[in-house]
Amino acid sequence: MSFRPTEITIAGIQYDIVYKEMKEFGELDSDAKKISISKKIKDEVLLDTIIHEAFHAMLDISGLGYILEDVQPELEEALVRAYDHILTPVIKELYKDFYKK
Ligand SMILES: [Zn+2]
Repeated sequence: MSFRPTEITIAGIQYDIVYKEMKEFGELDSDAKKISISKKIKDEVLLDTIIHEAFHAMLDISGLGYILEDVQPELEEALVRAYDHILTPVIKELYKDFYKK
């Protein structure tokens, strides 16, 4: 598998995906419409990281990110991680079953 997308469209907005040396797995630059991803990660971890950053982009585009930040600075990251760890695995399993047929 050579999954390594260089762009993603979220709500009609194109984000470039760049791969570079970095400490974090991924990082969203909302203003530059850019997602940076660590060169070290690949395959399913890469997919999960792009989904994680796309969720941040969704919160930014929708304006929900501003509300979350006002309530508590770490709330957005907590919400995104809850999605990562709880709902993303469920969705991935459902897609596997769905596309098998
Ligand atoms: Zn995050």
